[in-house]
Amino acid sequence: MSRKILVVEDSRAFRNYLNQILTHSGYEVLLAESYDAAETILKSEPNLLCAVLDYCLPDAQDGEIIDLLLEKNERVIVLTAMFQDDIREKMLAKGVLDYILKDSMASVSYLLPLIQRLTNNQQHKCLVVDDSMTVRHHLVHLLEHQYIQTLQAENGLQALELIQQHPDITLVLTDHDMPVKDGISMIHDVRQKIDKNQLAILGISGSDANTLTARFLKAGANDFLKKPFNQEEFYCRVHQVLEMKEANSDLFRMANQDALTGLWNRRFLFGEASGCNERIRNIAMLDIDFFKKVNDNYGHDVGDATIVMVANILKIYFPNEVVARFGGEEFCIQADGQFEDFVASLEKMRQRIERTPIPHQQENIQVTISIGVSNVMGNLDQQIKVADDRLYEAKGNGRNQVVYQ
Ligand code: GH3
Ligand code: MG
Ligand code: MG
Repeated sequence: MSRKILVVEDSRAFRNYLNQILTHSGYEVLLAESYDAAETILKSEPNLLCAVLDYCLPDAQDGEIIDLLLEKNERVIVLTAMFQDDIREKMLAKGVLDYILKDSMASVSYLLPLIQRLTNNQQHKCLVVDDSMTVRHHLVHLLEHQYIQTLQAENGLQALELIQQHPDITLVLTDHDMPVKDGISMIHDVRQKIDKNQLAILGISGSDANTLTARFLKAGANDFLKKPFNQEEFYCRVHQVLEMKEANSDLFRMANQDALTGLWNRRFLFGEASGCNERIRNIAMLDIDFFKKVNDNYGHDVGDATIVMVANILKIYFPNEVVARFGGEEFCIQADGQFEDFVASLEKMRQRIERTPIPHQQENIQVTISIGVSNVMGNLDQQIKVADDRLYEAKGNGRNQVVYQ
């Protein structure tokens, strides 16, 4: 993913200011003060994220620089001191992403969020659902121009199939009137399984029925867009739902992840991961041996580093299982599959931790872990209780061992 941005601007103060805010946010900025200088930079074919262009340059006073970049299929954001409707319309019609009025330094505050949006868009995959190929292609073009990946469906039924096959779809744009299955009943079906925070849906319809907006929203759409819409309105709505979606994902992560280790926390283990049904499941409870001594001898920071080291090894050995930090220096792993294989992996991991020193000043700190493992029918609480009793046994038997029966 490119983080290169070409900035073409003749005002030195403005150029330096843009360079500063973009560089500070981790972008690689290529600076040009004129059309000619920009053309030279483009000859080396840099792979750009986008170009930020001054409409009026000393050697190209009427937006020629915009055409140069558009010919090369680059994403263009225009800086302009003039806000005339005809110029704005002309630029948007040419395929410019957006424009920013250059009336003060502060007006550029809109630029960075816009570029960050483009960057984040690359993680999103949008399913476009419409029976008209022309409409689909138009929407796909608008989305891909903003780096959003796309898939297409001709009706609600196809959409449901694709949503099932591609769990990485984050956004659905859907029409209502379609053969086979309409948009609203498709949304109803989707919402039986996937909530608004996991998958954003934007209803789009040209129908005059003024109850349609409410029906879309009541069925579970996040928002609604009425045809015909202009490009700016379209991007604003799409950006808004994606931002909401990202904020929700962040919240979910903050609520369910342990800040120190990045592992799941207890809340996730008992909420999302447990399910309420009784079944057989492999559970391991792990606890660092004599951890209090690490804190007492080397300080709390070294204690924290030790917890992180153990957590990282857990992640390496159990990349596809639910690994949670249960409390201070205690961890819990929940796994499906063969019990013997699980125990064997735990044993290997125990040895690995025993062999991994933590360098501290002139010393190497060594820790070990004790593990209790269960594989019984029941709910998560009952299963953890059995594993915990075995962990207690492991501690009593001399620590640094796995007890599984
Ligand atoms: P045992 O082998 O019996 O498990 O002995 P232990 O010393 O590991 O167990 P104990 O439960 O007596 O002590 C655990 C210590 O872990 C006490 C607590 O201060 C420390 N601790 C808990 N959470 C954290 C943390 O986040 N960071 C650090 N550095 N220490 C923590
Ligand atoms: Mg301990
Ligand atoms: Mg403990």
